[in-house]
Amino acid sequence: MTVSAVKIIQPGEIQGLPDDETPLLVLPLASEVLKGRAARFEELSKKGVLKDWLEFCAQVAKAQLEAVDQIKLTPLDENIVIESLKHGMPPASIGGWKAGNDWVDAFKAFTESLAKQDLPLPAKKVLELFKSADVTTLQQQAQDYLQADESKVKAEWAPFIGAILQVIWMRKVAQLAPYAPSYKGRSTLCPVCGSHPVASVVRVGAHDGHRYLACSLCASEWYAARARCTNCETPKEVSMLGETKESLVQGECCDDCHGYLKIMYQSRDPMMDVVADDLASIQVDLGLSAEGYQRTGRNMLLMAASETDKKDS
Ligand SMILES: [Zn+2]
Ligand SMILES: [Zn+2]
Repeated sequence: MTVSAVKIIQPGEIQGLPDDETPLLVLPLASEVLKGRAARFEELSKKGVLKDWLEFCAQVAKAQLEAVDQIKLTPLDENIVIESLKHGMPPASIGGWKAGNDWVDAFKAFTESLAKQDLPLPAKKVLELFKSADVTTLQQQAQDYLQADESKVKAEWAPFIGAILQVIWMRKVAQLAPYAPSYKGRSTLCPVCGSHPVASVVRVGAHDGHRYLACSLCASEWYAARARCTNCETPKEVSMLGETKESLVQGECCDDCHGYLKIMYQSRDPMMDVVADDLASIQVDLGLSAEGYQRTGRNMLLMAASETDKKDS
């Protein structure tokens, strides 16, 4: 694929925080997100060279959907939540997380649900090994993966570990929805859990035309001014590079930090899902990396190292 500059937004055009009732933090319902994600993966897996991988991802999303309501909710203190959000401290922070009962419950619910599905043979084998792996090793890998210490994580386990961590956090943050209006800030990381975004989305409907960053872990979405780099926050012209001018997925590239994050326009495909469409548009990543840009988004279902593997295959 060749990428070409297709659109420039001028600084000042859509740069500040909105001065109306536009929510700055949106906490979507986990079951709705996962249902939509599974359907989107299925749709995307109907064609293209990534079809087997995307079909497997649809099975993972279905297992997440089944698991998410089965795990117990750890109650969070209301005052701490409100104060944290007000002061820009993530109330469900990934910092210092230790895999405990939440991991044990989510691991069991997710792996049992996934094992019931008609998985391709290689995935079935990996899942068997994953299920029977040493508990302490797995918990350590989960902690490492959460902190993006990916070199310590077994590549073939990463999608499972990522999926389980998403289930834990999506469940955990579900109770925070009533407090979302307490957040008034601006952040490059998720204000709820502190993780990196997977991509940004220009929404339609109630949030028409507003751009949100979508959390790679807990699925929270937070407002991000346009014409500003989502990585280094430099306010300036932003180049958009995509397959075509009208493509759903564009790479938003910064010539200051040489980072890029994908941006997706929901108006171009209302059924899009940020995680699924990110994985399905790996050609955009390959194109942008060839142009010398570094990916700043994170997708929990695919480790950076395995992206390189895909390039070689
Ligand atoms: Zn988050
Ligand atoms: Zn930048």
